[in-house]
Amino acid sequence: MNLTKAKIISNEQISLRYYHMKIAIPDWSVSEVQAGQFFHIRTTDDFSPLLRRPFSIYRINELDNTLEFLYLVKGAGTKRLAERKPNELLDIFGPLGNTFTIPEMSRGLMLVARGVGIATLSALAFAAGKKGVPCFAILSARTKEDILVEKELNEVGIKTFLVNDLDSTSDLANVKVMAEELINSKQVDSIYTCGSKRLSILMKDMAEKHQLFAEIALEENMGCAMGACYACVCDIKEGNEIQTIRICQDGPVLPLKKVVLS
Ligand SMILES: Cc1cc2nc3c(=O)[nH]c(=O)nc-3n(C[C@H](O)[C@H](O)[C@H](O)COP(=O)(O)OP(=O)(O)OC[C@H]3O[C@@H](n4cnc5c(N)ncnc54)[C@H](O)[C@@H]3O)c2cc1C
Repeated sequence: MNLTKAKIISNEQISLRYYHMKIAIPDWSVSEVQAGQFFHIRTTDDFSPLLRRPFSIYRINELDNTLEFLYLVKGAGTKRLAERKPNELLDIFGPLGNTFTIPEMSRGLMLVARGVGIATLSALAFAAGKKGVPCFAILSARTKEDILVEKELNEVGIKTFLVNDLDSTSDLANVKVMAEELINSKQVDSIYTCGSKRLSILMKDMAEKHQLFAEIALEENMGCAMGACYACVCDIKEGNEIQTIRICQDGPVLPLKKVVLS
């Protein structure tokens, strides 16, 4: 892991609430970054907010040694991040955390993302594309405008299914039908989810029912991201034992069947 001053190449608003940032890494190769990992970023050079904020890697570009992030403008930190300009230096710490697993001989991946959860899952989709593993993505958002990176995913051969709250297509029952169809058609045998508790619970049930490999990327508030502050804990259940783990150390990618979601 590295503490780096990366150069901001671009930082653009891509919809009402979401931004896309591209940064150039000067002194180490982005080939060491993997899907699922995240960076802990100082959103501003002054001290408000003081704490770094965690962001998953959205895209890794080995050709020009750049990294891309997608982020939702939510509170103080992301508001400051959205004000950052091209050519400024961005203080990043990472890559941190573990990575997604694509099982050997996987028939296909089903990604189920809500909102900016697709940032984290896109990196996996691009990695699957490189390996030649088919990938299908159910993208859920409040509105059609909040659906992110559909075009970018389609361009690399990922089939997308779009649902939103305004026309009620994002209802759990509808998403369940879509996911069942993909599973029953035998096109997918591995499930990945990020960004919604209720979709994660649904995917956990479906993975259990169909005995499929499944992972979740968790996005809790984080303090130090080095395991010291215990801000980002979650519960894991194995058998009858419940264990509390730190997402920054043991995650953010975890086996869906073990994570306590209720
Ligand atoms: C592994 C991981 C990956 C993630 N990836 C993404 C991603 O790709 N895209 C994305 O949009 N989001 C992602 N998130 C979520 C993202 O980190 C949060 O949305 C972001 O931290 C919000 O920061 P904020 O300051 O805008 O929001 P806030 O809600 O204001 O702050 C977030 C946290 O900081 C604390 N805080 C707020 N103000 C201060 C202050 N002045 N001083 C100290 N602490 C303060 C809050 O108590 C809260 O814990 C990810 C989270 C994790 C854990």
